[in-house]
Amino acid sequence: MTAAVYPVIRCDGPDCDAEIGHAYAFTVTDVRRLRHPDGWHTRPRGRDLCPTCWKAGHR
Ligand SMILES: [Zn+2]
Repeated sequence: MTAAVYPVIRCDGPDCDAEIGHAYAFTVTDVRRLRHPDGWHTRPRGRDLCPTCWKAGHR
């Protein structure tokens, strides 16, 4: 069995398990860059926040 391995970023907000990838991303750095216009943010030390948590003020 083989499973496609693709990078995803996971939200580090409280009680949030949102995760997202991107078709053209080869690394998590690509995902962060490509998803930033969608509202995803990366905080120092590599914490990622989904648009919902970002708007909720979990920074
Ligand atoms: Zn979240």
